[in-house]
Parts: sequence; structure tokens; C-alpha cells
Amino acid sequence: MELRIENLSKTYPNGVQALKQISLTIPQGMFGLLGPNGAGKSTLMRTIATLQEADSGSITLNGIDVLKDKQAVRERLGYLPQDFGLYPRINAETMLDHIAQMKGVGNKAERKDLVENLLNRVNLYKDRKKGLGTYSGGMRQRFGIAQALVGNPSLIIVDEPTAGLDPSERNRFYNLLSEIGENTIVILSTHIVEDVNTLCSNMAIICKGEVLMQGTPKEGLAQVHGKIYQKSIEKSELDQYRENYQVISTKLISGKLSLRIESQTAPENGFEPSPADLEDVYFSFISQKVDPITI
Ligand code: ADP
Repeated sequence: MELRIENLSKTYPNGVQALKQISLTIPQGMFGLLGPNGAGKSTLMRTIATLQEADSGSITLNGIDVLKDKQAVRERLGYLPQDFGLYPRINAETMLDHIAQMKGVGNKAERKDLVENLLNRVNLYKDRKKGLGTYSGGMRQRFGIAQALVGNPSLIIVDEPTAGLDPSERNRFYNLLSEIGENTIVILSTHIVEDVNTLCSNMAIICKGEVLMQGTPKEGLAQVHGKIYQKSIEKSELDQYRENYQVISTKLISGKLSLRIESQTAPENGFEPSPADLEDVYFSFISQKVDPITI
């Protein structure tokens, strides 16, 4: 099972070039698509989900031409968009039953089993009679996964799923996603490095419509291994350090700035070597394209 994207490009009518010759090979399992806001993630996700057209390039899912044979893709696709509307007064059970019916599960008893199974899987069975409008952010996302799973999709796309979830809801959602990733292609689009670190066996970093890196998180880490140094500085010193070093990220800790830089050789001046993590990989690539920001 494989999703293959080749030389995909898209320019919006206002002239924004959202995708520039994107090529990615996405195998079975959890794939993390990591990039800052505006990178082109949603554009790419919506194009794969057959919701918008590309200008050029190709996408194939197990040999199906995604850009041409949209119906065949839709039958195999589960999609959890960034913002999805919920009918607030309808309860989860009724809504899932309705979605199953729309996706062609005609038999009522079969639908009942399916809905019950999905509600249990996403841990919403006891809340199945509550109006969707009363759900917390985490419950909404889990419901979103349940609706995406109707029809046993072979490709699931989740766009920025953990934004706004509290840590325990996020954990629950991680567990659910990692279960699903075992026998499908799951593309997780996010700007949260921790999401990818926790869940994904393969990943890509995109920025300004371009693929900057693709591979396993381990391969990403190998690229910055031994090159990360850290130092705590005053905020007022930042500009001076930016001039002299390749600053990849800065974090405010108790009023001081913890600065991380990438360097081939050990810098003088009080820098300590620091083990590289996936955030360093991300910022190392991103900082080549955009100005580093304080996080
Ligand atoms: P991401 O999901 O990574 O935040 P998007 O795909 O939403 O990125 O956006 C990529 C770029 O395309 C951004 O510069 C955004 O402003 C622009 N863009 C997105 N959708 C549209 C649209 N419908 N019309 C014009 N520009 C758009």
C-alpha cells in the first residue's frame, strides 16, 4: 500500500504558490507532514482528499489515479479536516448511523453493529446520546476519527488534529491514532513536532510549498546529530548571536532565552553541546526558509 505524489504544484488565483513540485512517497503506517502555518499542508491534504484541483503533477494511491478517479479514492478515504462542522443537536450515534448510510451501508442491523463498534473504538459509547454540541475538543476529535473510519478506509487524512487539545485529551487521541495506523496509511498534518515524534514512523518537513526533508525521524536526527549547541542568554543579546551563529530556535525559560544553534564545530563562548531532538531537526530545516521565532 502506497500513496505516491509526484511533482505536484498549485498556484492560487491570487498568485500564492502553495505547492511547488511536491514529491512524496507515503507508505503504510503513520506519516507526519510537518510544517509551519502557511507551508501548504492543508492545500496538499485537500488535493489528496479530492476536494481541490492541482495545476500539475500526479497522485496515485495503490495505482489509482487520485486526480482523475476521484470516486474510487473517496470510497477508500477517511478525512478529518482542520475545521469540521457538527450538527450540535444531533447525537453521535444518530450522526454516525447517517454517515454510514450515506457511505452505502444499507442494512440497518449491520449499521447498528458498525456504529456501536466505532463508538467503542473511539471511547464515546457512553456519550453516544449526547448532542455533539456538548462535546469537548477531545471528544469532537475522537468523533471526527469515528466518522472518518466509516467504510474501512485504506487512507486516512487528519489535518492539525491536536491543536487546542489539553494534554490528557491529546494522549488519548495519540493512542487512538496509533492503533489505526497499524493497517492503513494515515497522514497526520501538523505544526506540532511532538505529534510526529510520538506517532510517526515516516515524515516530511514542508515549508513555503517545498519538501525540505523526507524520511524516518531517525534519519532526520542523523542530519543534526552532534551539531546542536545550547546557551542561555539575555533577550537583548539575541540579535548579536543571530549575526554570528546559525540560530535554529530560542525558548524563553524563566525570563532568559535558551538559544539553540547548529554548528559543524564546537563554538567557543560558553555554548554546551546538547543532544539533538526532532524539534532541532524541524527548526534546522525551517530556519533555512523563514526567520527563527521564539517559542
Ligand atoms: P498550511 O495548511 O500549511 O497552513 P495552506 O495550504 O493553508 O498551509 O496555505 C498555503 C498558502 O496558500 C498560504 O500562503 C495561504 O495563505 C495560501 N492559501 C491557502 N488557501 C488559499 C486560497 N483558497 N486562496 C488563496 N490563497 C490560499
